[in-house]
Amino acid sequence: MEKAKNILTIRRLTWAVLVLAGLLTLTAVGLLVSRMNRTHVGPSDTSCETVVVVAPGDTLGKLLSAQGISARDIDAIAKMLRKDAGVSTLRADNDKIEFVRASDDAPVTRMILRPGPWRVVELTCDDAGTWRCAAHDIERDTRAVYRAGEIRDGDSFYLAGSRAGIPAGILADVYDLLAFEMDFERDIRAGQRFSVLYEENFHDGAKIDNGHVIAVWFEALRGNVKMYRFRKSDGTIGYYDENGNGAIKSLKRTPINNARITSSFNLRRKHPVLGFTRAHKGVDFRASTGTPIPSAGAGRVVARGFNKGHGNYVKIRHNGSYETLYAHMSRFAKGVGVGTNVRQGQTIGYVGSTGMSTGPHLHYEIIKNGKHVNPMTVKLPAISNLGTGDKDRFLKYRALIDDANSQLKDNPNLFIQL
Ligand SMILES: [Zn+2]
Repeated sequence: MEKAKNILTIRRLTWAVLVLAGLLTLTAVGLLVSRMNRTHVGPSDTSCETVVVVAPGDTLGKLLSAQGISARDIDAIAKMLRKDAGVSTLRADNDKIEFVRASDDAPVTRMILRPGPWRVVELTCDDAGTWRCAAHDIERDTRAVYRAGEIRDGDSFYLAGSRAGIPAGILADVYDLLAFEMDFERDIRAGQRFSVLYEENFHDGAKIDNGHVIAVWFEALRGNVKMYRFRKSDGTIGYYDENGNGAIKSLKRTPINNARITSSFNLRRKHPVLGFTRAHKGVDFRASTGTPIPSAGAGRVVARGFNKGHGNYVKIRHNGSYETLYAHMSRFAKGVGVGTNVRQGQTIGYVGSTGMSTGPHLHYEIIKNGKHVNPMTVKLPAISNLGTGDKDRFLKYRALIDDANSQLKDNPNLFIQL
């Protein structure tokens, strides 16, 4: 429980944050100095480096032979990359290869490849002409940052979140997490406040990317929603509510993020096409034709077909008691047929307006023990709860996170070193 320990060390946060702020300034100054030094000093002063950015259509063979590396060596290098570094493809416009030679016209003796922001693969050629490969992870300096916001009139959660300075990727993760508990269309009100604690990864003092969402708080209509990222003793990581119940539910209430509800579950609704009272046994989400429809949960496709009312529809059985149905699809996803096992979030089809429908939307039903239930209010089962030992650890961890959160609330521009 490395994280908990580190957060513990900042118990007396009021002055610890001041120290951090001071350290930050020092680091910045130190960095400047080291940058200045680096341009002129170093044993590789006389060596020659060429950096090649992988372009569309480039292959390892093409890039290496352009640097004068023999076909035999290319073969050996490709095998090593696959076997020792897990690199089997190059990503165009993303990957770079750095070629190092002793002088302008000397052969390449070193190659550096970065298959991701946190991994370096180094290939070196010894005097006998044999290439060797070594891969290692780049040490990251992870900080927990805090952002808080408030919903204003007419806001969406995304709007309020970006105004609070939460990066888009983190917002999308938060949205996915909260979608198990909230309906972002109808549960959002002006005045609701939220906060997020998430990771930012640095290397050499420069921010490289964002990490995970550590915790989320949201003042929802049904009460405060809190979620914490926690590692169980068996190593698996999940999100849990304040009591240690799995936050990821077996089914999502709203399969399509950010889609407006145009018609709710209502057993006595006047049908828009038929004109007479007919139960609306699901929820309609407005979305444009072609929008991917993700499965609300893991399960097996038990029906895929067409009928006059539903148009193209898919039905998924999730476990002994739950089924979901998705209707009016313009088309089905490739490879999704009766008997297909799908995972949560997997695209099963695309929004359309087939069957009895007045415009493109997703009609979504949850069927519990053979009876239609309201997807927005049905109590959904959690998929992963904590055992006794883990639960005790979780509650302690949660207290630390809550504490860190309230301290950062007063010093929102600071962060916690993890
Ligand atoms: Zn409907």
